[in-house]
Amino acid sequence: MKTIYLVIPCYNEEAVLPESAKQIRHIMTNLIEAGKITSASRVCFVNDGSKDNTWEIIEQLNQESSLFSGINLAHNKGHQNALLAGLLTVKDYCDAAISLDADLQDDVTVVEKFIDKFYEGCDIVYGVRSSRKRDSFFKRTSAQVYYKLMHSMGVDIISDHADYRLMSKRALESLAKFKEVNLFLRGIIPMIGYKTGYVEYERYERFAGVSKYPLKKMISFGLEGITSLSIRPIRLITMLGLGIFLISIAMLIYFLAIHYLGSTVPGWTTIVISIWAIGGLQLLAIGVIGEYIGKIYLESKGRPRFIIERFLNTTEEDRENAQ
Ligand code: UDP
Ligand code: MG
Repeated sequence: MKTIYLVIPCYNEEAVLPESAKQIRHIMTNLIEAGKITSASRVCFVNDGSKDNTWEIIEQLNQESSLFSGINLAHNKGHQNALLAGLLTVKDYCDAAISLDADLQDDVTVVEKFIDKFYEGCDIVYGVRSSRKRDSFFKRTSAQVYYKLMHSMGVDIISDHADYRLMSKRALESLAKFKEVNLFLRGIIPMIGYKTGYVEYERYERFAGVSKYPLKKMISFGLEGITSLSIRPIRLITMLGLGIFLISIAMLIYFLAIHYLGSTVPGWTTIVISIWAIGGLQLLAIGVIGEYIGKIYLESKGRPRFIIERFLNTTEEDRENAQ
């Protein structure tokens, strides 16, 4: 029997947390009673610097039952960092950890399937959405385009997989060796390797509360994914620059030729257009390069990716001592 931890990042989730905790508790106690996982298994909520009562609810859950543990981050660090904080903290207590969202959008009833795959010998099990029927047209197509784009940039990313996944202890230990500050977990984890498995699940509507990923944040998360995993955009710019240079040489030859043949070149339109086009392209190129330099700047500082203010975890030993 193995010890499994669920890791759930929470940011302003007071509206859903009690209900999520109830449903998850039901699933976990069933698994423990069925002898599938040990009684040392836990559900670890990571409070990502919430402004509402999320942490108080987590503390209360921990008081009520030792099944619930909690990590309080000192500051809001974003979903990916909160997830990382949770995973890297619980890895010393468990044989495998499953990450999921607090809002019950990921079907929690498939947790057992993840554990089955783990017992079959998989170190990483990806939750993959069985369909995108429930998504809006915009979200569906933009996701498709994004996955295509990522693949064309040479990034190994699993389509229709968010952050619902199981990782074994040794996979987590390997993850801890990736020191990057610009974090895009779903792009790094395929680099770890090991035996992988897949579990299909339905993604539901958010049960209560609002999404913490509005369009603007989603776009910046998407760009983060590309720039932290691929340098192909910079290479594309180099190729584009080369292409434009070759065209300008061809143009030079052409205009010199017609000049000596005696016909004049009319109009300033060509000149104005080319100035604008080249100017725009140059700015774009500088912007892309700046984006990468910004990344280097952040990485070179090597700031901590998260700071834990408190870790509430009632271990089996604590329970025995208390009795
Ligand atoms: N989240 C977080 N920190 C943040 C933003 C979000 O820990 O700064 C958590 C949030 O509480 C939820 C998960 O990340 O458990 C996914 O967020 P959300 O459900 O809002 O995103 P969506 O499902 O709409 O993409
Ligand atoms: Mg959600």
